[in-house]
Amino acid sequence: ERLKNDFQFLEVERQGPNKIEADIRKQQFAEIYEPFNSEDASEQSHRCLECGNPYCEWKCPVHNYIPNWLKLVSEGNIIEAAELSHQTNSLPEVCGRVCPQDRLCEGACTLNDEFGAVTIGSVEKHITDTAFAMGWRPDMSKVPVTDKKVAVIGAGPAGLAAADILVRNGVKPVVFDRHPEIGGLLTFGIPEFKLDKDVMVRRREVFAGMGVEFRLNTEVGKDIQMQELLDQYDAVFLGMGTYTYMKGGFPGEELHGVYDALPFLISNVNRCLGFEKDVADYIGVEGKNVVVLGGGDTAMDCNRTSIRQGASSVTCAYRRDEANMPGSKREVENAREEGVQFMFNRQPVEVVGDAGKVTGVKVVTTQMGEPDENGRRRPEVVAGSEEVLPADAVLVAFGFRPSPSPWFAEFGIELEQDGRIRTSADEAFAFQTSNEKVFAGGDMVRGSDLVVTAIDEGRKAAEGILDYLKV
Ligand code: FAD
Ligand code: SF4
Repeated sequence: ERLKNDFQFLEVERQGPNKIEADIRKQQFAEIYEPFNSEDASEQSHRCLECGNPYCEWKCPVHNYIPNWLKLVSEGNIIEAAELSHQTNSLPEVCGRVCPQDRLCEGACTLNDEFGAVTIGSVEKHITDTAFAMGWRPDMSKVPVTDKKVAVIGAGPAGLAAADILVRNGVKPVVFDRHPEIGGLLTFGIPEFKLDKDVMVRRREVFAGMGVEFRLNTEVGKDIQMQELLDQYDAVFLGMGTYTYMKGGFPGEELHGVYDALPFLISNVNRCLGFEKDVADYIGVEGKNVVVLGGGDTAMDCNRTSIRQGASSVTCAYRRDEANMPGSKREVENAREEGVQFMFNRQPVEVVGDAGKVTGVKVVTTQMGEPDENGRRRPEVVAGSEEVLPADAVLVAFGFRPSPSPWFAEFGIELEQDGRIRTSADEAFAFQTSNEKVFAGGDMVRGSDLVVTAIDEGRKAAEGILDYLKV
């Protein structure tokens, strides 16, 4: 019996949760994976080799105790697994859904290649979803009481993770966000087919139950001033993200019908969630031939949102080859299944139009050249390869640059040359800015990256704040 269990991976294949058929899922803004049932989660968890040197744990940015919670799930011990999972991650059910596991934990699993990695992400999601459904909530009974309070600006993953660590150490976090719901890009960016919006609503209730206070619809610098926060709180954490849209820098980007990715995605969320203030704010591509420019997660989300809105065709043009795409392989596969056409090695050089309206995108073919300083192969243009892809809507998803607030300088918060916030590398006061009372983390410090890396920095910065407050 024991021997059979140890070699479960030989008998049980890697099997993720059921995925809804593409024809059905492309008609709805809802998650495409069904939940694991307990038997499947247990059986899949049991495939873990407990290989002694858990590379998965090292590759996971928050260093989750993966083999330990896989074992608990295989034994049916969901509540203990949830407790353990929350020791290292503030939003495990979110990471289980949106982390690019193929590049992180699962990509490092010893069973990879030959047998298929353990379905770590799906199990992580299963643990917290199931524990919450069973009524489990984080245990706050042993939290010490202090009289300290910290203002957190931004209810994205970085801010929420900071609030989580602070409240668990008896420091009262008050989280300010300009949006009407928590989550940052988790709510106003990442679409429902990757992350159901109910997940963040439930998290808000859980955090509120733990003692986190939220002040939504409140923009710092407009509705409340930074000086008030500095006066009223013992420290301030900044987790405000990066919101300057990168441009292609080619002619025609100003034509009618060319949209930045994030306003397009946000307008769709606002419509789905009933937050739309004015119907004119909605950017719809129903019945249009859409060209999406870019190859990251944001581009994939634009592709698949366009499909669901009922675009006539969706073509994604990317300047490198498929192997060099920055986004998650799983999401590229999902997009392809849903009908997105990919054109690799195509670099846009102009958006063409007629009477001020877009009619197409002129691209040139590229081939992969020598690796650059980061080891990524640089695309080179093939002479005479120009062609025009017909389009009546173009979505530009070239990524984000830092968007520092104009008031940072007034409070002595220094920036790196590219606009990211400069923070201390000192372990004792991790993520302290050049204003000793202000800490920062997430995309605004590291540049736009991942949910799990923002969580990691939010948690570390909160530890830095605890050092500073001497609690
Ligand atoms: P954000 O999530 O941007 O949160 C910042 C918050 O601060 C926002 O709510 C904002 O409203 C608020 N704020 C800013 N200024 C103020 C102010 N002055 N006053 C009040 N509030 C303010 N990562 C993944 O791991 N997997 C994915 O699949 C994935 N998909 C993505 C898809 C899209 C379309 C995008 C844009 C990003 C995606 N990412 C993904 C990246 C990920 O979402 C970000 O790296 C992460 O959300 C960064 O977290 P953050 O807390 O630093 O910032
Ligand atoms: Fe994998 Fe992300 Fe979960 Fe870490 S947080 S175990 S990288 S899914």
